[in-house]
Amino acid sequence: MSELNLVLLGPPGSGKGTQGERLQEDLRLPYYATGDILRAAVREGTDLGNEAKEYMGRGDLVPDEVMVGLIAERVASAEAADGFILDGFPRTIAQAEALDAKLSELGRGLTAVLLIKVPDDEVIRRLSGRRICPNGHVFHMDFDPPKEEGVCDICGERLEIRDDDKPEVVRHRLGTYHDKTEPLVAYYEERGVLDRVDGQRAPDEVATRINALLATLRREEEL
Ligand code: AMP
Repeated sequence: MSELNLVLLGPPGSGKGTQGERLQEDLRLPYYATGDILRAAVREGTDLGNEAKEYMGRGDLVPDEVMVGLIAERVASAEAADGFILDGFPRTIAQAEALDAKLSELGRGLTAVLLIKVPDDEVIRRLSGRRICPNGHVFHMDFDPPKEEGVCDICGERLEIRDDDKPEVVRHRLGTYHDKTEPLVAYYEERGVLDRVDGQRAPDEVATRINALLATLRREEEL
């Protein structure tokens, strides 16, 4: 396939990060997860981090202009010439339109938008057990516990609950998802690039389904 420009779409806790990291390894493409980029900026205390912090803590979206600048720069970079994997962007129609405009300026377009579907009650269950270390390694108390309680297996740092995984913030994030992000399903469906994946299945099964979808896209391109 000439280039593979992918978007992972879905509610918080749908497994976009897990699948994105696998895809990054399998496809050897840059993986841009806006939540990870923003959390790193907050930790480092950069201007971006200082601007984003309050929005994130409330479970609100960071303004579109900030996010569009961040992603436009990355998709146009040399490392993304063969494609990219976006996770957490776009999250609004305005962001989707800005992404389309940037890609068409570059003579490119999206290959596929993978919608990972998970119902709200499952999202709440998943996020309440999620634990993360300062370097971004993610565990789950029930589904993927660390070997030693409260300690990251990978770097030995302390595991914490993300501020925005607290129950009242999770409910707000879900509301934001339904109001602002879900309209992207129809947006991408109309453009013929949307594929749905059942995110309630085990991570391996979700990955298998995504790989099958990508294989179909490759075959279609060769025809
Ligand atoms: P995530 O890790 O993807 O759940 O993102 C965590 C938080 O970062 C979100 O709740 C938003 O506050 C912010 N954020 C991440 N991506 C975006 C985006 N594309 N637009 C606006 N805010 C975002």
